[in-house]
Amino acid sequence: MSIVQDNLERLQALKELDGISQDDLDSLNNPHKISYVELEVNNKKYPAWRILYSSDLGPGKGGIRFHSDVSEDEVQSLAFWMTLKNSLADIPYGGAKGGIKFDPKKADRNELEAVSRAYAQAFHQVLGQDVDVPAPDVYTNSQTMAWMLDEYEKIIGHHEPGMITGKPVELGGIKLRADATAQGGYFVAQEMVKEFLRDRQPEDVRVAVQGFGNAGLFMAEKMAADNFKIVAVSDSQGGIYNEDGLNISSLSAYKAGGKNVGTYSEGRAITNAELLELDVDILVLAALENQITIANADKIKARHIIELANGPIDLAADKHLDAKGTVIVPDILANSGGVIVSYFEWAQNRTGQILDEEYLKGLLEKKMRNNWSRMFNLYKEKGNVSLRQAAYILAVRRVLAAKHWRS
Ligand code: GLU
Repeated sequence: MSIVQDNLERLQALKELDGISQDDLDSLNNPHKISYVELEVNNKKYPAWRILYSSDLGPGKGGIRFHSDVSEDEVQSLAFWMTLKNSLADIPYGGAKGGIKFDPKKADRNELEAVSRAYAQAFHQVLGQDVDVPAPDVYTNSQTMAWMLDEYEKIIGHHEPGMITGKPVELGGIKLRADATAQGGYFVAQEMVKEFLRDRQPEDVRVAVQGFGNAGLFMAEKMAADNFKIVAVSDSQGGIYNEDGLNISSLSAYKAGGKNVGTYSEGRAITNAELLELDVDILVLAALENQITIANADKIKARHIIELANGPIDLAADKHLDAKGTVIVPDILANSGGVIVSYFEWAQNRTGQILDEEYLKGLLEKKMRNNWSRMFNLYKEKGNVSLRQAAYILAVRRVLAAKHWRS
């Protein structure tokens, strides 16, 4: 199954929905530059990519993931989504993504460091604060960013903290970055609840969260703190269900102790597939892409879905759920809090100014709510588009405007 093909079809639909010309759509069909290297570390080989999809609005921007399923099709799709996400977020970036086909769970610290440094060495010529700026993604974190920054600075011979974001605070990172994806997603979730679950009290809204990593865990904590009833969560090993609502702080302490959520005692163990099919009001998808496909789309009972992961619903499933009236808050809006705070970090690195954290928190909130409103207003105005299509239209319009000014 090619995700790239899915995306091209999603783009093609904008011709009819927003009168975008075929030439304009064709200009978005291909990535600007695909860089591929086979990294060699301790006699093992790891395929690795950095794909700059677009630099029309500014330097490339997007994370680097470590996962055994990484492929060129996946990295290119993620780079395409970053292009739309950054455009919709109204920040001065094109879109890019990177990945290494590698299972970090099987590696020790020395190997993780060696692989991270090898990546920076291999791709240093296509990275840089004005060229393409990586960040964390699935199974990479501030330590990964620190190794990559250090390696890059050794090669170029001077400091350039703006070449990467999601760094430790001591290296020019920003505290807000750690839970920024979930924080942004939560602002959007509140807006969604205001529009679509208007008469409900949070304690009557049942929520399931797939994925208990950086995005899903913080999202569950924020929703639980506001009294939403989190009835199920899962990690890569399986899930846990409790119809009275799970105690998220105790569950996250359990997880922090190195356990999997499925073995937690206050609930019934369920599989990831069962979690997706629960009859809940809100399903938060915070794991990987292609979790809902045509194979399970007709079993999905949730009436509202928030995509905190990138691409968790494939095109065929998307059509099926749309036809059924499921409200889907699309990834390019829902998870854009991460890259918005990356932008704050990059801007600080470039100016040398340190901005007040409360001010930045407020700015993130303002941007997320404002971007929701722009998407929601277009959705209402058009009347025949999904929330995703409204978000795509706004994003594509801005990239095309930049392209036109340049031509
Ligand atoms: N990996 C995150 C994403 O998919 C963050 C990207 C960034 O901060 O550049 O949006």
